[in-house]
Amino acid sequence: MPNFEQIFGVPQQTQASAPGRVNLLGEHTDYNDGFVLPTAIPQRTIVGLGYSSDSQHHFYSQELDQKVSISEKNGNPEGFASYIFGCIQVLERDGYQIPPLNLYVTSSVPMGSGLSSSAALEVATLRGLRQLLNLNIDDIQIAQFGQQAEIQYAGVQCGIMDQMASSLADTNSMLFLDTRTLERRVLPFPAGAEILVIDSGVPRTLAGSGYNQRRAECEAAARLLQVKALRDIADPHAVEILPEPLRRRARHVITENNRVLEAVKIVETFHQTSLHDETSLHRFGELMNASHASLRDDYEVSVPALDTLVAMLQETPGVFGARLTGAGFGGACVALVEEGKADGIASNILTRYENAGYKGNILVPEIP
Ligand code: ADP
Ligand code: MG
Repeated sequence: MPNFEQIFGVPQQTQASAPGRVNLLGEHTDYNDGFVLPTAIPQRTIVGLGYSSDSQHHFYSQELDQKVSISEKNGNPEGFASYIFGCIQVLERDGYQIPPLNLYVTSSVPMGSGLSSSAALEVATLRGLRQLLNLNIDDIQIAQFGQQAEIQYAGVQCGIMDQMASSLADTNSMLFLDTRTLERRVLPFPAGAEILVIDSGVPRTLAGSGYNQRRAECEAAARLLQVKALRDIADPHAVEILPEPLRRRARHVITENNRVLEAVKIVETFHQTSLHDETSLHRFGELMNASHASLRDDYEVSVPALDTLVAMLQETPGVFGARLTGAGFGGACVALVEEGKADGIASNILTRYENAGYKGNILVPEIP
């Protein structure tokens, strides 16, 4: 693969990186003003930067082997360049002067698998710009600029979870985020456990329409319950007055928010005694299992392949808990497993999953 200098003809001046993320708990809660609990994954996006020798920006992606040049005249680019150009534009709109740049992207975060390669690209780009130009912006602003770039320039109506996780969490920490107030806590990732993420191989074909329908159902439920958002209700019994399917949709959101809050309490007690940690990890896993059941039965966003994969994980020794992650209708699942066991469990599960007639793919741990 050509390096920075081979692509742009001048050496690189600085480099920055940012990780992808996976959501451990708190699914379909963000658009209900609720709580989420993502953590960073080992895969990262790396951005090399330097000044351009002409009046244009030049961006190159190693994964796509694609180079895009942007001048004032040709306006907003499409595709991967829109994320990078968006980051530059939102900074300029905020009063920062950004000179013409060469920017080289390379990444081990799989694209479009729900591990947030887009946020990793934005956060790495903004970190690189902060470094090269000595910009006085903090990690929260980086997440906010990244989100604005994705909404306004890439045209994706995303929440702020992905950028916050990429900017604030690492593989040793998880991020508890209140999506209404943006109140957040970076919590240590539990010792004695690690993450396993497996793609089900089922494309998320219905994800768009299903997602919009669920959003509308949640809004309808909130209206009938006379609250601004479902996040304002903590007691699951409150849903009993709702007609179906709103009753079950609302129950998922309410119980899911409660699960995130309980998980955060558990994580905050970690490391007090190692004995305690073992019990806590099991409880954390139970919350993940309950989340999957709720997404499957109440929210109805699972598919048979994900249910099969999650059930196989849940019955495997060394697995604390497992659930589908992301919007559902296909895509990946995440499990919390005993430290050091992820690789072994992953290959075992993959064989069993294939024997059941499916084709999965291990996303985390990273295959070197
Ligand atoms: P996800 O964030 O779940 O991986 P998205 O559809 O939100 O999926 O973002 C994927 C898009 O982000 C890609 O189609 C591409 O435009 C951009 N992107 C992410 N990483 C890279 C990369 N390494 N090189 C080029 N483009 C990238
Ligand atoms: Mg994304």
